Amino acid sequence: MSFLQLTGVTKFYGDTCAVSSMNLSVEKGEFVSLLGPSGCGKTTTLQMVAGFEAVTQGRIELDGRDITHAKANTRGLGIVFQTYALFPHMTVRDNVSFGLEMRKLPKAERRERVRDALALVHLEAHADKYPRELSGGQRQRVALARALVIEPPVLLLDEPLSNLDAKLREEMQFELRQIQRKVGTTTVMVTHDQSEAMSISDRVVVMEGGRATQIDHPHNVYEHPRTRFISTFVGKANLLEGRIAGDSPNQSVRIGTLSVDVADAGFRAGASVLLSVRPEKLQLVASGSGRLDGEVGERFFLGSQWLYRVATPIGELMVLCPNDGRDALEEGARAAVDWPDHCTRLLPADDETVVAEVAA
Ligand code: ATP
Repeated sequence: MSFLQLTGVTKFYGDTCAVSSMNLSVEKGEFVSLLGPSGCGKTTTLQMVAGFEAVTQGRIELDGRDITHAKANTRGLGIVFQTYALFPHMTVRDNVSFGLEMRKLPKAERRERVRDALALVHLEAHADKYPRELSGGQRQRVALARALVIEPPVLLLDEPLSNLDAKLREEMQFELRQIQRKVGTTTVMVTHDQSEAMSISDRVVVMEGGRATQIDHPHNVYEHPRTRFISTFVGKANLLEGRIAGDSPNQSVRIGTLSVDVADAGFRAGASVLLSVRPEKLQLVASGSGRLDGEVGERFFLGSQWLYRVATPIGELMVLCPNDGRDALEEGARAAVDWPDHCTRLLPADDETVVAEVAA
């Protein structure tokens, strides 16, 4: 039995289904992110785990205990919101100590635990300051210390870094992960930022329209996306519409004039499919020596990489090349596009098939 288990968890607001039959098993010590676009049901799912929203159907269990209808304050979970919600009239130390006072812990123990929590987030030197005297990143760390000091069985984070600027956000992502590893608290985080979810989670739950469409390790979500949506929401992808030719196991995909051999993908002959290939898996080689001849339409300098848009007989392809010191291709240059066989993924043209499978 998993530490935190959601079984068929569903939430209706009137006629609106915000979360549909969510099944999720989170192991003790795991860091899981709920990832998806605005309105897909991430926050509602987190709020049901926290006990702030009632569950319409389904069950939530924590360490074997059914908490589906337990009051929020009896669940003992640590929660950090986007807005930090610090008490402005209290010092950092008092903010962090608050939860322990509520639990009526003896003063000496409180002092020790607050000191440890502040050391964990590197804020010992700021203990006597007020929230208004801190930077955004420091406030975020106070909120984290306040949530962790009660030693909760599960830490719930709702877009905890979204108020921070890009640079600080990236630093805090690593810090958050380091702190979580150190204390080992089971963590569920809501984010709409795919790179954030990928870089700090053990597993990612991708949500679309209230449903979980893929629950997997970040690398698998990226390399083996299950839906068209995931392949473009998580990173960039070239999606080529084609049809399966031949019978299993010797199948290929016909995309206009191009034929690509595929391993036994389990599609019937004639099925409509999408061949997905990531831009960084494509290479630009000399004309006539690749799979498709083309012409560079536009190029964009991204610092460590160049992004090319290349016109080919089967449509425009995005190609990402490392900025490795070689001269970049000019707009209008002729080049061929190539890729290793194992770098393509086949997706059903219709996402409904996948959604039905995940829900089953
Ligand atoms: P965001 O990233 O924008 O916060 P989200 O993925 O967290 O989005 P939710 O806030 O969980 O999405 O909302 C899921 C759906 O439920 C949306 O269609 C939203 O409009 C609806 N919803 C959320 N809260 C309520 C509410 N209190 N009353 C009615 N509908 C709601």
